Amino acid sequence: MSDEPTNTSEKLVELAKRRGYFFQSAGAYGGVGGFYTFGPQGAALKGNLEDAWRERYAVGEGHMEIDAPTIMPEPVFEASGHLEGFDDMLIECPDCGQSHRADHLVEDNTEYEDAESLPIPEVEEIVAEYELVCPSCGAGLAGVAVENFNLMFATNIGPGDSQPGYMRPETAQGIFVEFPRLKEYARNQLPFGVTQIGRAYRNEISPRRSIIRTREFTQAELELFLDPEEDEPDLSAVADVAVTLYPASEQQADDGTTVETTIGEAVDDGTIADPWIGYFLGISQEWYESVGVDMDRFRFRQHLSGERAHYASDCWDAESEIDGNWIEIAGFAHRGNYDLSKHQAHSDERFTIFKQYDEPKTVERATVDPDMSYLGPEFGGDAGTVVEKLEELAERDRAAFDGDTVEIDLEGETHEIPVERCGFSVDEETIAGEHIVPNVVEPSFGVDRLVYTVLHHAYREDEVDGEERTYLELDPEVAPTFVGVFPLQSDDDLEREAQAIAAELRAEGLSVTYDDSGNIGRRYRRQDEVGTPFCVTVDYESLDDEAVTVRERDSTAQKRLPIDELPETLAALRAGDLAFDDLE
Ligand code: AMP
Repeated sequence: MSDEPTNTSEKLVELAKRRGYFFQSAGAYGGVGGFYTFGPQGAALKGNLEDAWRERYAVGEGHMEIDAPTIMPEPVFEASGHLEGFDDMLIECPDCGQSHRADHLVEDNTEYEDAESLPIPEVEEIVAEYELVCPSCGAGLAGVAVENFNLMFATNIGPGDSQPGYMRPETAQGIFVEFPRLKEYARNQLPFGVTQIGRAYRNEISPRRSIIRTREFTQAELELFLDPEEDEPDLSAVADVAVTLYPASEQQADDGTTVETTIGEAVDDGTIADPWIGYFLGISQEWYESVGVDMDRFRFRQHLSGERAHYASDCWDAESEIDGNWIEIAGFAHRGNYDLSKHQAHSDERFTIFKQYDEPKTVERATVDPDMSYLGPEFGGDAGTVVEKLEELAERDRAAFDGDTVEIDLEGETHEIPVERCGFSVDEETIAGEHIVPNVVEPSFGVDRLVYTVLHHAYREDEVDGEERTYLELDPEVAPTFVGVFPLQSDDDLEREAQAIAAELRAEGLSVTYDDSGNIGRRYRRQDEVGTPFCVTVDYESLDDEAVTVRERDSTAQKRLPIDELPETLAALRAGDLAFDDLE
């Protein structure tokens, strides 16, 4: 059998390693699944994409960016629910010992599409019914137990009798736990948003497909905090944005298909239930296009009800097509007030915002002021508890104080207390506002999957001068190297001139690579393969006419440009203010 790559992914992974985009880490020690290093090109591409995300979602929306630690103490994840339920379904082959995700096994080998949302006993039944086998050794898995496996990496904080800690499985908790302080920076005004770009860690059972499913990856997340009753998005800004949607109803229908619509229509007809989700899908459609995702291979898919977290009212994923498979590259969820309520319940801090009313309100408040000279002798050490019970009862049920006595329950025994000993009264009070727990809408992007998508969608093969060529049609604004500068031949004068040009272009803020090795055709091919949009070649004529040849990657067309106009012209080409075709 030939080892030739057969699909674009295989070719891309090979190119990525050879040309410095990404490769498996720690190869000198055999490597370990799920950890990748971004090489010089990959780190630059990833950095450019992160900058573009920051520009749009933090700066462009007027939100704050933070940078929180990647290790957090156990109580954070007790509160967030990750300790209890951040699990995947594990099945271990009894013969070879390999671990697999039981839900993936079911999805890959049966007609079930959303096995993740099925209960474990049902997954075990399907494994048995379809006689599924271990993908590594072929042993039968019928009857093998499926178990929950928590995906968090555990660690210890400090020496000795140390505190348990965990590598964060998402960047979001770093934002939620700091809410009491962040709200101060937002001057206690809703709505406000906080973003974070950083590493997340998940001990995936079976990392696969290179950087698509890894154990350490980068997320770019935005948490938007909202007043559930008042804050509405500016839908007019995105109403006309055309999108491809794959609603839950279509996924469940026998002949279901994607729907071509606009954000405005989809929110109006209820396909997108929440206007904020509609807003973010709209701006994300435009943003993904701007960084080079092929919009013919892109869609938004709604979560099925079983797939959605119980607290989330509507969830959509952005998906990109990779060799016939759809992969999730971002998630958009309306999370209600779940996260902040959990931290409010588990910590002593206030995860609320004080909402001032337009006009102060007058309300009636029922209170008690019990006679302790009666309760003390009557209840002894329990008198304090009795007071608390009376306070709680006054707030909950005023009518309980209508008769001569009030009944309270103390350790299963009912006690009657004379009403005149309770000091019960109803007073009017003027209040300026109330403490509310904000709602959260969360767009959550996977940066590694975006890098992969952008590269995969940019991968091209053609023929130039009778020779096969591979190139990456990357957008000039995200391409890791913008321009290659070459002396035509090995010659001191040409090299000096080319070095001077490279320095000038760098001073203009462009990312430049200088290359004087090999024949010029080879040098062009090398830059084509990493997706460098332009190359500048200095030849002998340049020394006389002060002009150089500029070659465009996609068309391979060449034009002669004066050296003194190069920095300005190339900067305009990068910004998209000028097209190569329009150059004289
Ligand atoms: P989630 O919190 O699971 O919705 O993940 C948010 C985003 O992070 C997803 O849309 C993916 O793009 C990305 N992501 C999740 N898990 C992984 C992983 N194991 N490797 C790479 N990216 C991931």
